Amino acid sequence: MPNADELIQFREGAGRLCLDFLRTLRFAGSDHAVEELAGPAELAAWITRFSPDRTAPSNPPTVAQAREARLLREAIRSVLASARSTSGDAPGLRRARGRINAAAARLPGAPALDNANTVRWDTGDGVTTMLSLIARDAIDLVSSARLPRVRNCANPQCGALFLDNSRPGTRRWCSMNSCGNLAKKAALRQKAGPA
Ligand SMILES: [Zn+2]
Repeated sequence: MPNADELIQFREGAGRLCLDFLRTLRFAGSDHAVEELAGPAELAAWITRFSPDRTAPSNPPTVAQAREARLLREAIRSVLASARSTSGDAPGLRRARGRINAAAARLPGAPALDNANTVRWDTGDGVTTMLSLIARDAIDLVSSARLPRVRNCANPQCGALFLDNSRPGTRRWCSMNSCGNLAKKAALRQKAGPA
């Protein structure tokens, strides 16, 4: 079971926006998965932290949008899983692709530079914009030559995916600070032997 300091909300560092988004279902695929996007407040907090301009959406998310976000997330998870496997299309994948494509098509605005060369998305609909950006990122990743570099964290409890951007392609952990560190400590304990 995860301990308390593993449960800090919203982990990042997966190397892609869509992969960080997948991490909002912590410990995915395990019997102790934790839903971090339970409702509109959580979705607003995630967008504030991960949007290109790091600002809260001007229109607060609705319950329906939070649900849509979770459905989009699981659609991305299943399409990515199928793209990474050789076992062919699982049931429901057509629908999942359709959901991603629809979200991608709904980009309400365009990026703009402000006077400090910071990108701003002043679209009036920050939630739809963000879901669209996530969907576009997923489309790009699934169809890119980088796909084989998408890896599962080597911690079997973790469930996170990340894009290995290391030059030799040997990255093993979603984060050195969490899973990598746990493994290092476990290895040290083993080396020290029983107390
Ligand atoms: Zn991990």
